[in-house]
Amino acid sequence: MEPDIVSRALEALRRYSLCDHCLGRLFARLGYGLENDERGRSLKNVIFLHLHGRASQEDTLSDIVKLAESGHEPSLRYLRDVHGINVEVKKCYICGGELFNNVDYLVKNIVDKIHEEGIEFKTYHVGTRVPKDVLMRELEVATNVGSEWAESIKRELNRLIGKKLKDLLPDKIFERLNPDVEIIVDICTGKIDIEVKPLYVYTRYRKIIRGVSQVQLRLNVITSLQKTINDNICSRLGAREAIVHASGREDTDVRMLGRGRPLVISFINPRRRPSENELRDVIRLEDEPFELSITDVKIVNRRMIEKLKGEATRHVKIYRALVLLSQDVTDEQIRSLEEYFHNRQIVQYTPRRIKRKSPKKRRVRMVYELKVIKLCSRLLELIVKCQGGLYVKELITGDEGRTSPSISDALGQDVRPLLLDVLDVLD
Ligand SMILES: [Zn+2]
Repeated sequence: MEPDIVSRALEALRRYSLCDHCLGRLFARLGYGLENDERGRSLKNVIFLHLHGRASQEDTLSDIVKLAESGHEPSLRYLRDVHGINVEVKKCYICGGELFNNVDYLVKNIVDKIHEEGIEFKTYHVGTRVPKDVLMRELEVATNVGSEWAESIKRELNRLIGKKLKDLLPDKIFERLNPDVEIIVDICTGKIDIEVKPLYVYTRYRKIIRGVSQVQLRLNVITSLQKTINDNICSRLGAREAIVHASGREDTDVRMLGRGRPLVISFINPRRRPSENELRDVIRLEDEPFELSITDVKIVNRRMIEKLKGEATRHVKIYRALVLLSQDVTDEQIRSLEEYFHNRQIVQYTPRRIKRKSPKKRRVRMVYELKVIKLCSRLLELIVKCQGGLYVKELITGDEGRTSPSISDALGQDVRPLLLDVLDVLD
């Protein structure tokens, strides 16, 4: 047998007046399919049976008084009817006896608030704020009485509120890890905060014109992807703002074509939470410098952002560059240029045009394939298949020796990039 549960419970009641919930919670891990108030009431009944058998003894009567003080109705009646003792019920030492009576009222307020604010969600989680002094007294009782089977009052309240919400919101799902909304209830003041989690949407973007940027608005750019999404899409979702996280970025004067660049958009505080199917219409952009792919749309979680950024250098990218030569080249030179850059490793130090705190950072990236099309004398089109993160302009110019080898070096002359496009980002 385990240490005597009944004598442990009686010991607790001798020291503290505890309501059914707070007594039962000390034994929360015992039994199955029981709530703590049922545990507490059962224990009080069993103690009463024990004591009643030897009620003639003086010390036994004082224990029944303790039971009655904790609100145990049969003990109260017994003392009044048989012994003529009227006992006044004491407040629960831990919770004050009121907290658990508020649960129904709080749950109703939560449901009202959800409807009032018109928040769409599928999954939710509930948390409670419990006054510090309650938590301190709970700890004191658990420490003094022994707590190997106990659970915390927060856990009990969360579960009770969660259960009742489940009945009132039958089409919603209770989810601990990544809920759409987090409901925080202040048990004492009754204040309810509904925190709407961002909606993370994976897609790909194409940048149709030059002179626009991914995130930052500078003097020389017309608009940005982030601004375009904020201006056009946020209102469709009732979101406060949108933040874009892409897998790498291209220069302002470089277009992003083909299937587009992978992207996660976090929509902050969205009132609407459409399905992936509905999202295709929501994220459609028309007559904007950017397009969002509607075939790649996926609802993801925030971990996808890190994954996307980590993958940026693993992606293979295909660029097209229009370059101007300073001297003529022969077909023979072009063929050997293509051969030279077949699976060639490139060492690059941070380009001079990029102003950073650590100016000389080394990176090594691969060029997998180079195709050269001679458009006319001194004008070439280059198709470069390379590793993500390669500075393609510097691959062409050599950047005064900071990138090596370069196309300028290989041809033994100055080569100038005129126009650059990303044709594809391969997963
Ligand atoms: Zn209590």
